[in-house]
Amino acid sequence: MFETELHALLSEKGASLVGFSDLGKKASPEFPHLRYAVTIVRRLSDTIVETINGRPSIMYFHHYRTTNTKLDLLALDAVDFIESKGYSALPVAASQSTPTDKEDYRGVFSHKTAAVLAGLGFIGKNALFITPEFGSKVRLATILTDMPLVAEKPVQEPKCGSCEICKNACPAGAITGKLYEYGAPRATILDAKRCSEHMKTYKDIGRGAVCGLCMRACPYNNKKQHKEVTSFD
Ligand code: SF4
Ligand code: SF4
Repeated sequence: MFETELHALLSEKGASLVGFSDLGKKASPEFPHLRYAVTIVRRLSDTIVETINGRPSIMYFHHYRTTNTKLDLLALDAVDFIESKGYSALPVAASQSTPTDKEDYRGVFSHKTAAVLAGLGFIGKNALFITPEFGSKVRLATILTDMPLVAEKPVQEPKCGSCEICKNACPAGAITGKLYEYGAPRATILDAKRCSEHMKTYKDIGRGAVCGLCMRACPYNNKKQHKEVTSFD
């Protein structure tokens, strides 16, 4: 099975989690023939995340970029494997969002859409992907492909319950506090422009490209804390 081989290859090279999905109707309109996806998850360092205190740290910014680079390299390994088997593969950059004509900020394809369909976790009220293993402290990469791949886990429903910790932690008021419903516009939970504008206030840290306060605050990062809020099934 290609899933088993890809899982072993990417885990060996440093992926924290690997998942697969059939995107079906969620496939990219630009690349409708690439209807399957490989999701690669890389965890963030606990120690580095703890340096985010009231504002992002320079160490976090560097770690964020290094983790994205690692994910992009892992995605290239997946592309090599897929192409060696005679299929097409398109790596989606770990971090590459651009303002659209709707003043929204998006990448070429939503990593979280593929990750949800792979059953690796859920989208929290902070609009971040949350895994049972590492909470919000993860970054994602995606490879779109025509290699037929099957999800190994069922889709998980959002499990934030009544928690509003990230909403209260956001200095920009960008998080609405609503539970995310799959398929709903991201704007129902996050004002992406407000978030992006707030990041620019940290110009002394990587020209204002990171914040991380809502990621740092999520109790799912800490298995002991998240049991007090709600829990994964
Ligand atoms: S990254 Fe910062 S500004 Fe953006 S939603 Fe999270 S806490 Fe708010
Ligand atoms: S802080 Fe609470 S509401 Fe926000 S994503 Fe985490 S569990 Fe969900």
